[in-house]
Amino acid sequence: MNGLMMQQPLLISSLLVHAERHHGEQEVVSRRVEGDIHRSTYRELAARSRRMANALAAQGIAFGDRVATLAWNGYRHMELYYAASGSGAVLHTLNPRLHPDQVVWIADHAEDRILFFDLSFLPLVEAVAARVKTVKAFVLMTDRAHMPAASSVPNLLCYEELIAGASDHFDWPQIDENAASSLCYTSGTTGHPKGALYSHRSTVLHTYAAALPDALNCSARDTILPVVPMFHVNAWGLPYAACMVGAKLVFPGPFLDGKSLHDLFESERVTVSAGVPTVWQALLAHVEANDLRFSTMRRTIIGGSACTPAMMQAFQQRYDVQVLHAWGMTEMSPLGTVCTLKPAHDRLGADARMAVQAKQGRAVFGVDMKIVGEEGEELPHDGKTSGELLVRGPWIIASYFKGDGGDPLVPDAQGRGWFPTGDVSTLDADGYMQITDRSKDVIKSGGEWIGSIDLENIAMAHPAVAMAACIGARHPKWDERPLLVVVKKPGAALTRDELIASYDGKIARWWTPDDVVFVDAIPLGATGKVQKNKLREQFANHKLPTA
Ligand code: ADP
Repeated sequence: MNGLMMQQPLLISSLLVHAERHHGEQEVVSRRVEGDIHRSTYRELAARSRRMANALAAQGIAFGDRVATLAWNGYRHMELYYAASGSGAVLHTLNPRLHPDQVVWIADHAEDRILFFDLSFLPLVEAVAARVKTVKAFVLMTDRAHMPAASSVPNLLCYEELIAGASDHFDWPQIDENAASSLCYTSGTTGHPKGALYSHRSTVLHTYAAALPDALNCSARDTILPVVPMFHVNAWGLPYAACMVGAKLVFPGPFLDGKSLHDLFESERVTVSAGVPTVWQALLAHVEANDLRFSTMRRTIIGGSACTPAMMQAFQQRYDVQVLHAWGMTEMSPLGTVCTLKPAHDRLGADARMAVQAKQGRAVFGVDMKIVGEEGEELPHDGKTSGELLVRGPWIIASYFKGDGGDPLVPDAQGRGWFPTGDVSTLDADGYMQITDRSKDVIKSGGEWIGSIDLENIAMAHPAVAMAACIGARHPKWDERPLLVVVKKPGAALTRDELIASYDGKIARWWTPDDVVFVDAIPLGATGKVQKNKLREQFANHKLPTA
């Protein structure tokens, strides 16, 4: 017997309709690429999205066509989120930090039909326009006054003219909730990038889960500033969650340095933010150097790579900003776990509580997790045993776009597919997951695994260290041993031996790094993660001191 409930598809457009109807006056504030601050509301954003949906149709964009963007976080990008997906097209957020050859490869693979881009990316688009074969029109996301007098980009259109020339009357189509809504490529540190193709259903379910109090905890009383780019897994879903709950949204545009962010946090009275650790490091350095405070900020979500306990302590103890450590990936829309504490943790001492907070957290409802050993056998949830982390859930990919990326799923005894995350982690009895490493970054010493994240956290807690990455360096006896690559804080003095001595008592002795190299900079990829493959190449011939 079926239930007798209405069949109503879960559609991205309904998030915007809700925000307009119930939070129409709520503000959307953007620092624009053009340099000024733009203020709008959900009511205006919804009307302009409808206009843009009409404009897309006028440009011949049909159901399922890919609409690409090369854009910062801003209201125009948000309008495209809704105009493209809402009208049945597929929003494809390109990462402008990638090499132009990769942008071309991805746009070709996605078969993008139209490309919207911010003024900052005009040189990039001029460099690639002739090579992206499927793109029929290019739209500069600005007004007429900021359009270039001349450009080599063919069929170059002006965003504000498209908006002005279109009706704000548009009925969002009631499409199948399983229709594709948006497309995001993995950063492709190994091999070609792979496309994760989200659906309306997966996005709306992810939005419900992300907004929950023990997840990203979004509400109409919040002012949310997503620092995480909208081209990085849909800014972790915040442009959708903000509409679902009616939160005020603040977009930082291209201005992601510590000063610009802190100014915006203060002037717009931001309460919640989200971003990768490298951005917060710059922000904390600015706040520290200028003896500033956060007067309204209550929480920040940190993920994308491991947040060190040192950073958590700085936010929480010095600035009274709560850190929510979160973990996910492109293939997971991206949310998998968030580290919010349970009541029992209140009874713990500060150090023990910090040890829990340093974990990547517990699964949000909808995500199932397990860890397995080399034969695929399930490993115990004891907080100690580590194995490959596998996940399942309605917003986790079943296959890659066009099938390019192989069949990713691993079946269990019941025949259900699990997605192997490529992360190595522990799970404890309370369900808290802690990443020890990415499987390809694990250091294999004498047949045993050493997790690099622990070693990096200890180095980063040293007051003279600005940044540290740990890789396996070749060793004649042990195959690999940990090598620390370190950037010192400006003006700080630190020797190899001092840093190595700081590991005493904090870790099993045989995990202690064998050597330290000091460098000026550590290479970061397009999503702000340390490029360990580059470091491994750079130090392939590093001679470890052999004892
Ligand atoms: P890519 O896999 O292409 O680098 P993603 O942004 O999808 O791009 O990265 C997902 C990966 O990032 C995860 O599999 C994990 O290794 C890492 N990651 C994400 N969040 C965290 C976190 N909080 N701690 C440690 N690693 C993280």
